[in-house]
Amino acid sequence: MKLTEVLQAGRKIFSFEFYPPKTEEDARRLFDTARELKALDPDFVSITNSSSGSIPYRTVALSGVLKAELGLETVAHLTCVAHSRAEIKEICLRLKAMGVTNILALRGDIQNVQGIPVRRDYHYAAQLVADLKKAGDFSIGGACYPEKHPEAATLEEDIARLREKVDAGAEYLITQLFFDNDFYFRFLERTAAAGINVPILPGLMPLTGYKQMQNLTQLMKVSVPAAVRAGLERWAGDKESLFRFSVDYASAQARDLLARGAPGLHLYTLNRSRAAIAILKNVKGGPAAA
Ligand code: FAD
Repeated sequence: MKLTEVLQAGRKIFSFEFYPPKTEEDARRLFDTARELKALDPDFVSITNSSSGSIPYRTVALSGVLKAELGLETVAHLTCVAHSRAEIKEICLRLKAMGVTNILALRGDIQNVQGIPVRRDYHYAAQLVADLKKAGDFSIGGACYPEKHPEAATLEEDIARLREKVDAGAEYLITQLFFDNDFYFRFLERTAAAGINVPILPGLMPLTGYKQMQNLTQLMKVSVPAAVRAGLERWAGDKESLFRFSVDYASAQARDLLARGAPGLHLYTLNRSRAAIAILKNVKGGPAAA
């Protein structure tokens, strides 16, 4: 089913992001995770596309396999940096053959591709979106950044570019993760004022540690509130308490987002199920999280 149809249905939607495994052990863990999360009846799972390109088409293959074997609705991430125009054409044929009808079109992470030849048929995601629209009957989404994309000079400029991506055919947007919901709600106001009227699904991720937080703040320029920093510092030596703290924080964020009108939640899982299950149980009011 096309994601746009799901979003138009008007109910809250829940989704998970996975990345393609690199080893057999990773693959086994991902399939265990996917099976466990399938039990929560997600509306879709999305599969990232590595810019390092060591094993081409892993995203495409995994999108097909998770759909065929587990019956999950899959969204394949495709990037400008990983694929040439000719490859994109071929990938679209493969996705169609596997019944995958959803694509998240991205430029891709440039810092991942040092030393690897970067495809430059497309420079920006909007160009890829436009080509994918021509390629056939896909529902196309794009990325957005409530705190501004790190390379954009201003949020206004970034939103103007985002409008071009939506005008090119992006039918929904998924946000970069954030830890302060005010960024999301201010972003909704500003994108609406700029004429962007597609659903904007908030992306959430429970932090697993202080080092991960430093990566986020340095590379992705995501702000981390003092309360989150304090929690990560306080529980640095106690894995279980750290897990609880992160899940509780993300659950409170998720409840607030949904209560204030967000169309659903997209959880960055890092291929692990425990935090995602705990957050959704907290949000949906199920039994206490394990
Ligand atoms: P774009 O929309 O192309 O924007 C990139 C920058 O260029 C922005 O600063 C924008 O303002 C600017 N810009 C856009 N158009 C123009 C123009 N015409 N002229 C000048 N400037 C312009 N990365 C991966 O490698 N693989 C993944 O699977 C992946 N999945 C992601 C999923 C989500 C939900 C998110 C939020 C990000 C994901 N990323 C992924 C990271 C993403 O690829 C990077 O953040 C990348 O730097 C930007 O991608 P984009 O699609 O937002 O780019």
